[in-house]
Amino acid sequence: MDLRPVVLGRHNRGTDRLETITIDVAVLGAGGAGIRAAIALAETRPKLKIALVSKVYPMRSHTCAAEGGAAGVIKSDDSMDHHFHDTVGGGDWLSDQDAVDYFIREAPLELLQLEHWGCPWSREANGSVAVRPFGGMKKQRTWFAADKSGFHILHTLFQTSLKFPSIQRFDEYYVTDLVVEDGHCRGFTAIEMRSGQMRFFRANAVIIASGGAGRMFPFTTNGAIKTGDGMALAYRAGVALKDMEFVQYHPTGLPNTGTLLTEACRGEGGILVNKNGRRFLQDYGMGPETPVGQPVLKTMELGPRDRVSQAFWHEQKKGNMVPTRWGDCMMLDLRHLGEKKINERLPLVRDMATSYLGVDPVTDPVPVRPVVHYMMGGIDTDIKAATSLKGLYAAGECACVSINGANRLGSNSLTELLVFGRRAALSALEHLDRGASAANEAAVNAGANAAQARLRELFNRTGGTETIAGVRKEMMATMEEHAGIYRSGEGLENACATLSALRRRYAGIELHDKTNVYNTDLLQALELGAMLDCAEAVTVSALERRESRGAHQRLDFTARDDQKYLRHSLARYRGGQPPEIGYSDVVITRSPPGVRDYSGEKNAGDKNAGEQK
Ligand SMILES: Cc1cc2nc3c(=O)[nH]c(=O)nc-3n(C[C@H](O)[C@H](O)[C@H](O)COP(=O)(O)OP(=O)(O)OC[C@H]3O[C@@H](n4cnc5c(N)ncnc54)[C@H](O)[C@@H]3O)c2cc1C
Repeated sequence: MDLRPVVLGRHNRGTDRLETITIDVAVLGAGGAGIRAAIALAETRPKLKIALVSKVYPMRSHTCAAEGGAAGVIKSDDSMDHHFHDTVGGGDWLSDQDAVDYFIREAPLELLQLEHWGCPWSREANGSVAVRPFGGMKKQRTWFAADKSGFHILHTLFQTSLKFPSIQRFDEYYVTDLVVEDGHCRGFTAIEMRSGQMRFFRANAVIIASGGAGRMFPFTTNGAIKTGDGMALAYRAGVALKDMEFVQYHPTGLPNTGTLLTEACRGEGGILVNKNGRRFLQDYGMGPETPVGQPVLKTMELGPRDRVSQAFWHEQKKGNMVPTRWGDCMMLDLRHLGEKKINERLPLVRDMATSYLGVDPVTDPVPVRPVVHYMMGGIDTDIKAATSLKGLYAAGECACVSINGANRLGSNSLTELLVFGRRAALSALEHLDRGASAANEAAVNAGANAAQARLRELFNRTGGTETIAGVRKEMMATMEEHAGIYRSGEGLENACATLSALRRRYAGIELHDKTNVYNTDLLQALELGAMLDCAEAVTVSALERRESRGAHQRLDFTARDDQKYLRHSLARYRGGQPPEIGYSDVVITRSPPGVRDYSGEKNAGDKNAGEQK
């Protein structure tokens, strides 16, 4: 690592110069959103120089782990209006409706595009694309490739990207800082992990597609790389983090590892029962009980994730959970689906339940419990994926457009990666076409050198009193205790105070590994810094939102309050202080806020004027 001008170990090059790589557009992240953006750039402008930068080999991005599928209207009994209203109602009216409209219209086009690039979507008997039901959706619209949808989507994107020579990949590069000069993003600095060499990617436009931040919590479906790096980079560069208080719990994680059992289990007809064998969701406004194996859309087990996870919490308080050696659980029963269907539609689920838990869903119900899964909030962007910083765009889970509002519907995220990954690329091209403003290159280089100096300080620090693992463990415990499915003002105040203290303690961390090759100590320290920033944005935004909406439920403010809080929260960075919270309006075009109704009663739906028209 060029962090010390002296040789530290055998592999240190001992040079102090920051190498610059000059390109047109730099994409941070090679998951679904990043690769989709890179392809759109390369397809539209073959001569463009594009850097696709990722801290892991692209196929190890979290998109690869997605199971259930991607939503897009394709069947004749479905409509754009249905997708619109399901998404807006599911998001408890915090979604920007112009963005949702753009999303649902582009969704089928993107999924068909993947088909043309070779994505092996599962089929109906007549050869047409198969779709399955998903939570909170009143029609079947989730395209899938068995229960390995993310793997196939990412593979399709990855192999397609290889066709474009203008996409230059930088695998296993860790991006550390955005370089900002004169109100423009001028690129970013990154560490080449195998050499420790730091490089400056000098670009006229940057797209962040760095994924979520679920690793702030100890029990999550998220891969180890989901540490909110890109969110923190944008935040520190002055871009607000929007709606960060909305953290999604998925109801059905394996209780020991947190590994996800996809919502498709219930989409295919699986049921959830408590210790009395009762399908308890009927007691939480999601009944009446439906025939086993024949899901009635939008009700019971196909209720939205926020409501289903909240029902688990209440059942636990009532003592209705099943005690297991992994803690209190509910049982996910798939047995009635039969071995043939489970093998055909849910092979990964069977494999994971058997391997990780020793329970075969063909013969036994599987214990499950809610697990942190997804960040609805993220980098504040407009409908064109542009941030408030010129030349900086964001797409995918790291961004908040917002189509997901206060609660994302399952299978909207994979489609969002495609739709807004492409949109971010088009916006970056428009930015290049407008002609990048002349930069003061000396000031730009000074910015990059300052990023290197910051790392050098961390690298050289001695006498530290804190460990990475110690601070991280306390952060996770605080998030789990106070920022979970239900929150209270008092708990959140505690969390904010603890996180402020942890941020100060973080400044006392000392690295124990001072070598250059794959220095995971250094990377984990940087990831922890990003998670602490994101965690503070979550807890302070949650404390300030004195209402209950979607995934944000307050025990002390139990009702939704449209008068005060039909607004996006915006957390702004203030150096060594907790963030400042502001608000912006939600775009309402054709669905005024209504009542979310998953009771399955005739004519129920989401009761709002817009839908009845
Ligand atoms: C287990 C699981 C199952 C899911 N199933 C579904 C589903 O069925 N349907 C659905 O719609 N959604 C699903 N989701 C959600 C969805 O998969 C994710 O929201 C989505 O894949 C995120 O994609 P992304 O491109 O934004 O980020 P990711 O795929 O997470 O990629 C992030 C990229 O950023 C890079 N990166 C991050 N930080 C840095 C840094 N500092 N330097 C360099 N590179 C960096 C990483 O290397 C990676 O390449 C699931 C999520 C999980 C966890």
